Amino acid sequence: MNLFTYEKASTPSAAIELSGKSSAARYLGGGTNLVDLMRETVECPQTLIDVTALADGIDQTGDGTLMIGGAVKNTALAADMRVRSAYPVLSRALLSGASAQIRNMATVAGNILQRTRCRYFYDNASHCNKREPGGGCDAIGGFNRYHAVLGASSSCVATHPSDMCVALVALDAVVHVEGPSGRRAIPLAELHRLPGDRADLETELRPRELITAVEIPQLSFGRRSTYRKVRDRASYAFALVSVAAALDIDDAGNIRDVRLALGGVAPKPWRASKAEAALRGQPATEQTFRAAAEAELSSAKALRDNGFKIELAKRTIVAVLNELKGEGA
Ligand SMILES: Cc1cc2nc3c(=O)[nH]c(=O)nc-3n(C[C@H](O)[C@H](O)[C@H](O)COP(=O)(O)OP(=O)(O)OC[C@H]3O[C@@H](n4cnc5c(N)ncnc54)[C@H](O)[C@@H]3O)c2cc1C
Ligand code: SF4
Repeated sequence: MNLFTYEKASTPSAAIELSGKSSAARYLGGGTNLVDLMRETVECPQTLIDVTALADGIDQTGDGTLMIGGAVKNTALAADMRVRSAYPVLSRALLSGASAQIRNMATVAGNILQRTRCRYFYDNASHCNKREPGGGCDAIGGFNRYHAVLGASSSCVATHPSDMCVALVALDAVVHVEGPSGRRAIPLAELHRLPGDRADLETELRPRELITAVEIPQLSFGRRSTYRKVRDRASYAFALVSVAAALDIDDAGNIRDVRLALGGVAPKPWRASKAEAALRGQPATEQTFRAAAEAELSSAKALRDNGFKIELAKRTIVAVLNELKGEGA
């Protein structure tokens, strides 16, 4: 690990000001990802700005909107009664991630900005366009069982690792940020970039921007929502495929509205818009669910080792929608 200085910010503006004093400053949440990367010398910041004292509350406005501070711990968010009752999908996604000890440290903002778990990215001896633009990608011809089948490019096939983000993107969450040029809000679905020919550019954040909060708009059928994660073992494993879904069925058994997102299959939390379009207004049957899953995965492309993810994703979508249909019956 390289030498670095440590500062603790007491306000967002203090954090932003501190970040301007060094060309290689990084915000520090729980450190569960950034410090690992520093140990591997994949990241070498000169200054760490601890932002865990900022915005660690969860507030609900009169219209039901939830405002979650960027420094809220993953454990606290998963346990919040308003989240558990109105958005079980979010609580379950959080609880399926990492371990209790890591969730006690990890923050909402840090979870959103955690880096990919591609093993070649962590190994400085490997070629990786994300670490070194133009350096090549050893995953494409290498061991790629965990890599993307949707949204990847010839420059990078890594998946986004966060479970929480899959639930948040299904819930139309909005990320609030503050930086040297002021405040702005970005829909979570637009925050993470697909790699294209610049795998190193991962988000739409501008230099020194700090995530201050995440907003979840009220969702009337959020109670009928869930998250299912398929992985190689029961704990400490990232998703092979995951599905976040919320379902609204009318009295005639037709789908009035639906929210669907996928994890483990793409370089960003993947909103399954094609499947949603195929489901709305249709009868809530297994046949409809399967057709929607086929529509979403129609553009999927397999690498050498990850072709199984395509059928796994389809089956998981169908299983989750069947489960939600049963819950409302
Ligand atoms: C063994 C292990 C297993 C895991 N399993 C899972 C899993 O199954 N599912 C899952 O989703 N995750 C998993 N994780 C990842 C874990 O969830 C993340 O490490 C964690 O969420 C990161 O949060 P943090 O607060 O510690 O972030 P940090 O490590 O502190 O920071 C991560 C990034 O966010 C930036 N950052 C932090 N706060 C801000 C802010 N307010 N504004 C702007 N930038 C900021 C940092 O500069 C850094 O780039 C696992 C981690 C480990 C070590
Ligand atoms: S998949 Fe992406 S992160 Fe992994 S080695 Fe290739 S460029 Fe790097």
